[in-house]
Formats: sequence, structure tokens, C-alpha cells
Amino acid sequence: MEQKLKGQIAIITGASSGIGAGCAIELAKAGATVVVNYPIPQGKEMAERVVEEIIANGGTAISYKCDVSKEDEVTGMFADTVKEFGTVDILVNNAGLQKDAPFTEMTLDQWNYVLAVNLTGQFLCAREAIKEFLRRGVNGKSKSAGKIICMSSVHEVIPWAGHANYAASKGGVMLMMKTIAQEFAPKMIRINSIAPGAIATPINHDAWDTQAHLQELLKLIPQKRVGQVGDIGKAAVWLASDDSDYVNGTTLFVDGGMTLYPGFEDNG
Ligand code: NAD
Repeated sequence: MEQKLKGQIAIITGASSGIGAGCAIELAKAGATVVVNYPIPQGKEMAERVVEEIIANGGTAISYKCDVSKEDEVTGMFADTVKEFGTVDILVNNAGLQKDAPFTEMTLDQWNYVLAVNLTGQFLCAREAIKEFLRRGVNGKSKSAGKIICMSSVHEVIPWAGHANYAASKGGVMLMMKTIAQEFAPKMIRINSIAPGAIATPINHDAWDTQAHLQELLKLIPQKRVGQVGDIGKAAVWLASDDSDYVNGTTLFVDGGMTLYPGFEDNG
């Protein structure tokens, strides 16, 4: 595989499982040195397994504990990464979670927790990444001074009953991403989102764990397969590489057609 990210340093949040782990593995295959972030001490073992897989593939990675919703922990993660590796070239703003409830039963804690991780976490990490990109400027490793990939969701455009906090967080990610892409494009910083559809990970295990659930889910996916983390990881490599150099402020939907109004598949 051509190493399109050779010598670049990537922080990937929430990378001890699911899509984040998939992105870490694909970015490392493309030559990036990867910081595999995880939020709580208990996540260390899973993060270390991702690091071991990357090293076994010939790549370079470390694990790093940081709760992305905590400002001091985020500034610490960026400072330590710069100290260890000299800079940060790529941020994959991936950490996210769900705390679902019917709207009238949703507690303020459930609302605040999802917004804190999914939106404020992306703000804090993007802010620290951009400060470092601006400090360093374009350094010859890439046409950009830095790249950010925000992990959004098809629910940045598809309303989702029973998940108002999650959908609001992803809608927020969409306009934060576009706004900062506009603000920093003149500084050669590229910021885009990936909006996954249904990707088989721990976050949505209930949606595909039985044949009955899977068949229901497939009704929403014109391509008739559930996505895999590698589908997202490969898209992340493209968005992080100079192959997408003129792509800025856009959301790449990687969803097997989920946003194509599958209800109209049979002529409406
Ligand atoms: P996942 O549960 O496997 O991954 C989420 C990761 O975020 C976990 O590793 C978790 O430890 C981490 N995390 C949670 N809180 C954190 C915090 N405070 N600080 C740092 N890390 C934290 O699920 P996933 O499906 O891989 O989700 C990854 C991202 O993809 C999320 O943003 C999610 O919203 C998005 N997404 C997933 C799907 C899907 O179908 N799986 C679809 C659309 C969007």
C-alpha cells in the first residue's frame, strides 16, 4: 500500500473500539504515527490491543487516556503528543456515544452528557489541533498545515425520534465543521466530516445482533449490507491525504445509500 500519510502524526479520539479503531489501523497502514485515545482507565487494555495490531502491521502507535469532554485533559493530550512526536498533522474527531430516551423522559444529564462528548469534545480537540497547525504551518509533509476529520452521522440530516440529544449533537458538528473550515481554509487547514450510516460496532450492536434486527436494519440501506469499520477508515485516509486536497468543509456520507430515502425504493 502506498504510504500517503508517511511521517504524519494523527490523534484519533475514541480509538479503542469500533470506527475509531478502524481509522487508527487504516491511517497507520498509510504511514501515519497514531495516538490511540481512550477515555477511562478501564479502556487501556482495548486501546493497547489496537496499538499492538498497528505495530504488528509494521506501524507506529501509542495509547493515550483522555476524556475529550474535559478541557484540561484535551490540552494535555495535544501538549504531550507535540512533546513526544514534534507536532500533530491529523485529528480524527471520532469519540461519541448515545444516551437514548423518549424526548419527554430525557433527563438533563442525558442531554448534557451526549452534547459534552459528541459536540464539546469535538470543539475542544479541533481548537487544540488548529492552534498547533497554525503554529507549525505547512511543513512539506502535506499540502495542508493540518487536516481534521469530524465523525458525524447520517443523523446530521436524518431526524431520529428517541435520540434528540444525539441528532442535535451531530447537527451541531455539521455546522461547527463548516464554520471552522471556512475560517481556516485561507491558512491551508482542511476540515471535513464523515457521516457513517449503519456500521457494525458496539454502539449499535442491538441493531444487527439477530437476523430479525438485521433484516429490519437492511430495509434502511439500499446497498443491503451493514458497513464495516474499514469502510470508514479508508474514507478517513482519503480525507487526510493530499488526494482530497481540494475538498474542504464537506460531509462525505459513507452509508450504503441510507440518505437516499430508501422508502421510495419501490417507486414511492
Ligand atoms: P464505539 O462505541 O465503538 O466507539 C465510540 C468510542 O468513543 C469508544 O471507544 C469510547 O470509549 C469513546 N468515548 C466515549 N466517550 C469518550 C470520551 N469522553 N472521551 C474519549 N473517548 C470517548 O462506537 P462507534 O460506532 O465506533 O462510534 C464512533 C463514532 O462514530 C461516534 O462519534 C458515533 O456517533 C459515530 N457513528 C457511528 C455509527 C455506527 O453505525 N456505528 C454511525 C454514525 C456515526
